[in-house]
Amino acid sequence: MFKVAMIGAGSAIFSLRIISDFTKIPEFEDVEIYLMDIDETRLNSTFILANKLSEEMGTSLKFKTTTNLEEAIDGAKFVINTAMAGGHNYLEKVRKIGEKWGYYRGIDSQEFNMVSDYYTISNFNQLNLFLKVARLVEEKAEKGAWLLQAANPVFEGTTLILRNVPINMVGFCHGHYGVHHIAEIIGLDISKIDWQVAGVNHGIWLNRFFYEDKNGYEILDKWLKNNTYEPKHPFDDQLSPAAIDMYNFYGQMPIGDTVRNSSWKYHYNLETKKKWYGKFGGADSEIGWKWYQDNVRAITKTINKLANYVSMNPRIKLLDFNLYKDYLNIEIFKEEIESIINPEKFSGEQHVPFIDSIVNDKKQRFVVNILNNGIIEGIDDNVAVEIPAWVDSNGIHPEKISPRLSERVIKYYLRPRIMRMEMALEAFIKGDINVLKEFLFRDPRTKSEEQVEGVLNEIMNLPENKKMKEHYSK
Ligand code: NAD
Repeated sequence: MFKVAMIGAGSAIFSLRIISDFTKIPEFEDVEIYLMDIDETRLNSTFILANKLSEEMGTSLKFKTTTNLEEAIDGAKFVINTAMAGGHNYLEKVRKIGEKWGYYRGIDSQEFNMVSDYYTISNFNQLNLFLKVARLVEEKAEKGAWLLQAANPVFEGTTLILRNVPINMVGFCHGHYGVHHIAEIIGLDISKIDWQVAGVNHGIWLNRFFYEDKNGYEILDKWLKNNTYEPKHPFDDQLSPAAIDMYNFYGQMPIGDTVRNSSWKYHYNLETKKKWYGKFGGADSEIGWKWYQDNVRAITKTINKLANYVSMNPRIKLLDFNLYKDYLNIEIFKEEIESIINPEKFSGEQHVPFIDSIVNDKKQRFVVNILNNGIIEGIDDNVAVEIPAWVDSNGIHPEKISPRLSERVIKYYLRPRIMRMEMALEAFIKGDINVLKEFLFRDPRTKSEEQVEGVLNEIMNLPENKKMKEHYSK
């Protein structure tokens, strides 16, 4: 038996997926899982549903709840971080201030980083929390414990932690499933594709693509010549005009969230976004992001309702979906729950299979965020890269990246993105406001010094940013 700590266990997106994965691996039947969150209502809902699921799946997983970070991490062998300091409310507050000062979609939405919950410069509290968790792993967790990072920003977070805290750590994202999405749309069997992606988190590219013995890119080109793709929802962008335009420019296909993280060209305003991402303007337009937030809010509310329902009707069977499915009035949540209660199906999140590989020495392939150390040529060793790797009880074994990423991907996409990561981390580490200002002076939306001073002042003066203000006033 070993202990796992889930930090931010009230997270609507991750918790139930991860817990359900634990129930599906027989070797993990008596793992002890500490659910930690600062929001007791969300925590309690996760706890009720986790216990119920585990009992019905016939496992004896042991769940404990705590609002204390130290207690959760103490003695843990694995720590999964999905927490978001300030939550979606903070992000929207800061976005609104940015828009007031002339920064459409907020100051953190930048060239090569447009993902709307991926703040890099106004998220002092989140980066601080990352370091706090990592240092507690170093001090309190079991010797050799692993920190599995899912909370964003994964690129900045993984680089920050691995440069500063000597622990085992890996960052995870599900963006590489974009490869599966391409296969599905153009009619290829994913199990017959030989693929590789490489880059940095939310900036990964399909460097290898073979279908049986054929060049997959030739198949894709043929499909693109004869078809256009209509997005079914705002996140349905893998074959959007923006993705294809990026493919034409860079010579390799952007995968997953990389399509959102494109240059200013696609993001001047809603009209431009619609041209490149279809009728919703993509995930990060005001339409797309509202759709996502409404769903996240509705799912959180439904999880709380479902947990209440289960605690008042303890004999109800979560595994008998027909008994309560009409009660869950959100389509995507229905799909989610159906997959969670299906004993044959894993969620697709990599955390639990990764733990399985480490603990049970099962060699499996993952896409991981780790320090480069020579994996991608042309990028510094101490920058976190996202690449495929095999994992077993000896740890992570990166694949050789072959063929190489295109010159344009390295020079015109990854290096400018890495430069902004470096600026965000230097500003954070040194508390140097001038680095944040310089970051914004390079933003084409900036028209004056007063605009930069004004927006940063207003953000720093938010009550939740008291520590940030002190840090940057040193
Ligand atoms: P959410 O706000 O719904 O959940 C985050 C949870 O963190 C909440 O329950 C909140 O109470 C908790 N929390 C906040 N501060 C905390 C603290 N100090 N200690 C412990 N818990 C704390 O957010 P979400 O939409 O579920 O997203 C969570 C994170 O995951 C975000 O950073 C998001 O960007 C990221 N994300 C990552 C991926 C990926 O593939 N890596 C995918 C989607 C979202």
